[in-house]
Amino acid sequence: MRIVLADLKGRKGFVSKDTVAGGYGSRFKPFSKTTAWVHLFKRQYHDTPSVHLAYIAAIFAQSGHDVVFTAGGLVDGDLAIVLSSLVDYRHETEWADAMRTRGVRVGFAGLAASKMPHLFADHADFILDGEPEAAIGRLARGERLDGICKSEAIMDLDSLPFPRWDLITKARPLGIQLSTRPVGGGFPLLASRGCPEFCTYCPHRILAGYRARSVRNVVDEIEQMCQRARRPYIIFRDSLFSENRERIVELCDQIRARGLSVSFECETRLDRVDGELLRLMQAAGLRTMSFGVESVSPEVLKRVGRRPIPPKHQRQVIEHCRELRIVTSAFFVLGFPTDDWQSIAATIDFATDLSPTFAQFKLLTPYPGTPLWKQMEPLVFEKDWEKFDGFTPTFEHPNLTSKELMFLLGAAYTHFYMRPSYLANMFRLHNTVVRGWVDRMDRRVSARITRRETEIMGPVTC
Ligand code: SF4
Repeated sequence: MRIVLADLKGRKGFVSKDTVAGGYGSRFKPFSKTTAWVHLFKRQYHDTPSVHLAYIAAIFAQSGHDVVFTAGGLVDGDLAIVLSSLVDYRHETEWADAMRTRGVRVGFAGLAASKMPHLFADHADFILDGEPEAAIGRLARGERLDGICKSEAIMDLDSLPFPRWDLITKARPLGIQLSTRPVGGGFPLLASRGCPEFCTYCPHRILAGYRARSVRNVVDEIEQMCQRARRPYIIFRDSLFSENRERIVELCDQIRARGLSVSFECETRLDRVDGELLRLMQAAGLRTMSFGVESVSPEVLKRVGRRPIPPKHQRQVIEHCRELRIVTSAFFVLGFPTDDWQSIAATIDFATDLSPTFAQFKLLTPYPGTPLWKQMEPLVFEKDWEKFDGFTPTFEHPNLTSKELMFLLGAAYTHFYMRPSYLANMFRLHNTVVRGWVDRMDRRVSARITRRETEIMGPVTC
């Protein structure tokens, strides 16, 4: 069979799918001068190919099928698999309709299709419910799929073939490296799937339970990448990369023992790293680490099942990263159910105080299938699923209006990125005289931003 794999380039704004928001995806549209810069940066560095489609490509190719990839064009074939998302589902279903009128059978894969099949059912011959590989294996062996098809999670992840990037991306030498992450991004790698934590708002843990590949299998994949590209840049897309400390120590040891020259980034919780582990990871190639801080308030976090991490430990880890020249990227969520103006203002202050290299602020979004969704469903007013993009208010917040939430979101980006100390940190200006001057400038700029905010919203406290 000739198989068409479609990871459609999102319309409007910067759309990320695949492993973002568990697969529901996000859409970032600039809404201020500061966010216009953030948007530009994301377009350059965050456009990464789909690891799930690369696995699907490998399974079909292993069974001798022809695989072709499209990011938008209509392509002739016998069967098409579309990577689904919530934020761009209309575009995906329109594309599926056009393919079906050409006589191609179409199936949808991914979290959005699994949890929201009614959005896709009228535009598909079949929908894969669950992680796709098991059902794709059946398709590749000649089984015909129709309707909603359960696809059981594969427990032994080592049994999967390695992703076939050559089939879903143009053979490229990983872009030009102007910063830590190369222009055009790097290659995602899943060393584990799911997450063992219990944050009630998180869509990363709702498709299947936590499983990890063996270290040897992961390093074999990295070695294969190194044979195909010089110093590949690997983006570990595990939800909690350093869940098991010994496993990561072994992974770093094996990368070095095999003499593999790689750079990589990962995402984790800050209570799962320490100075010694960071040094090992840095020596093995770690260049960027992302992590959720979410909120400064332990009470706010506990109400959504998230275990708070002491601020002192968070500061220490970020300081270690600075010393080791590891780029840090922190995630913050504004608008938890028990948040109010003061708690969000305190979170924004904490973000600037921690001063990671990058900060991403999002609004709390209740995603279907999460425990939070069950709790918040009566408050959800947004009917357009594409607006569940992480940056749009979707429910009646008990303490804040939608206008206030959007204002606070904009204020978070402005306060974080418009500080003179932000530039000073970027350029590593740590001289005492310069720092004193920068701190004074910070206070002046902050007062100016606050004056402008006060004109817009009345007196504010952030
Ligand atoms: S730590 Fe919490 S928010 Fe992060 S991936 Fe796990 S469940 Fe989700």
